[in-house]
Amino acid sequence: MQINRLKKISDKVRYETIKLIHKTKTAHLGSCLSCIDILVANYFSNIILRSNVNFKSKLKDTFVLSKGHAAPALYVVLQMKGYISKKMLNTYSKPNSYLEEHPNIKINGVLVSSGSLGHGLSYVAGVALGDQINKKNNYHVLVMSDGECNEGSTWEAAMFITGKKINNILAFIDCNKWQATEKTSDIMNLDPMKQKWQAFGWKTYEIDGHNFSSLINVIKKFKKNPKPTAVICRTIKGKGVSFMENDNLWHYRSPDKKEYLKAIKEIGFKK
Ligand SMILES: [Mg+2]
Repeated sequence: MQINRLKKISDKVRYETIKLIHKTKTAHLGSCLSCIDILVANYFSNIILRSNVNFKSKLKDTFVLSKGHAAPALYVVLQMKGYISKKMLNTYSKPNSYLEEHPNIKINGVLVSSGSLGHGLSYVAGVALGDQINKKNNYHVLVMSDGECNEGSTWEAAMFITGKKINNILAFIDCNKWQATEKTSDIMNLDPMKQKWQAFGWKTYEIDGHNFSSLINVIKKFKKNPKPTAVICRTIKGKGVSFMENDNLWHYRSPDKKEYLKAIKEIGFKK
């Protein structure tokens, strides 16, 4: 079954991401774990993101990770999809590697250097507008954070996209309730999120961002009738590892050996 297959892939992506962050003692594990199911649904369901930029396909669906600090999870996905090699993945965060802690356009499969938050949607708007002008029917997928909805540039892009009738944009908002060191609701209350996107003219869904049936359903509906679509994904920061879930310590810290082994055991891996 498609759902079971995607769940297994997600477990593998979680395992590899935890391993990468443990080995390199880098940050943002909680932020990676909250969006992995969204990445997997898009990259591995074979509904959207139909082309690999490597394969010179005429179809050029694009993917932008606007919350660039979740780069390790994206790198693991890109490796599993064949964009980058295992050898390259293992250079993550090492001197002279392109695989930095935020995505770099020098990496195959990365279309924009992201991580300066609030810019991803504007970038996608430009790419999709170019496609509209050139009469190309590509799909453009974006994953952004709830914290990025604090940014004026996000709402300017949201207004621009519907104002210019740019379809073919599917934006997933990873609402994990945290941004950096604080609760999103304490820094800037974003509710009612759904109504905000609707007011800007977006087709809007609010789903459990870890539920593959819901994620697949939205992707299929978008493909059938492309309109600017905002998917408010209710997610859990640190999802998949009990002692990391909703504990914001894991925004910055990396697991030590004991924590690493405990974490991967929960996901069904040994070392
Ligand atoms: Mg967040």
